[in-house]
Amino acid sequence: MKHKYGFVTLLLIAVAFAGYCFTALYVGSREKGEERFFVVTSFYPMYIAAENIVGDAEGVTLTNLSEPQTGCMHDYQLTPEDMKLLSRADVFIVNGGGIENFLSKVAKSYPDLKILDASQDAGLLEDNSHVWMSVEKHKKQVENIARGLCKMDEGNREYYEGQEEAYLLKLSKLEEEQKEIRSKIQGKSMISFHEAYAYLAEDYGLHVAFTLDLDEERQVSAGEVSDVISALKENDSAVIFAEELYGSEMAETVKKETDAKVCFLDTLVRGDYSSDSYLSGMEENIRLIKEAYGVE
Ligand SMILES: [Zn+2]
Repeated sequence: MKHKYGFVTLLLIAVAFAGYCFTALYVGSREKGEERFFVVTSFYPMYIAAENIVGDAEGVTLTNLSEPQTGCMHDYQLTPEDMKLLSRADVFIVNGGGIENFLSKVAKSYPDLKILDASQDAGLLEDNSHVWMSVEKHKKQVENIARGLCKMDEGNREYYEGQEEAYLLKLSKLEEEQKEIRSKIQGKSMISFHEAYAYLAEDYGLHVAFTLDLDEERQVSAGEVSDVISALKENDSAVIFAEELYGSEMAETVKKETDAKVCFLDTLVRGDYSSDSYLSGMEENIRLIKEAYGVE
């Protein structure tokens, strides 16, 4: 009998541990001991960046406002639960550039809540807030987040600085890889099916021949289809950068009429909450871009 209970206890511990791991990965909340400093991020890429700085910092809870599959926040409506969460926050980390269209509402409801704009001085392109897509500019976002946290949570300053240094080093490695490819493909053309890829074009020195913004589910007009086809005819070696979720239908349409190369790239706004997801997503983008332009 004794043996049997021992087994049950072990099983219960195993279930509890699995539950903890699941929570950490998929619920998007990190809690260490007593909650002293409560950090909320707006959406996925901000959560991943903050997660890399917060790590296991003492007394810090990090939570993401939206779901890991929410994607961009252009049309996001705050829920009563979101407002409740923000009422408890010490700092709200946002991408900025207008992507969180609800910020004025938040500022009005919680005038004392500190809002950390990660895009400050990151070099936003005009009317395009998808700045995390540039590795170089995302490094500035990470630095901004680290600076802000160091200031607001002095006790963990040294820890945050160590985390920042380690993460920036990993991002710099991606940047180096991109630079090497850039030297071989700059000046070549791309056609973009998502505004976010303008930042990739910038990192690789590519010429954006045409942009069709498919950032959400929508109908593409016949006029837009013919615009894409003529842009492809004028730039016959251009590669199409598309997002699988909203761009694949249009890619199929275009493929029927041209022999254009389509590169399905991750906009890095969805995934699980593993802290390396930006790095692995961008690494895969690099591989696909290399392949599409025939870089050895
Ligand atoms: Zn977007």
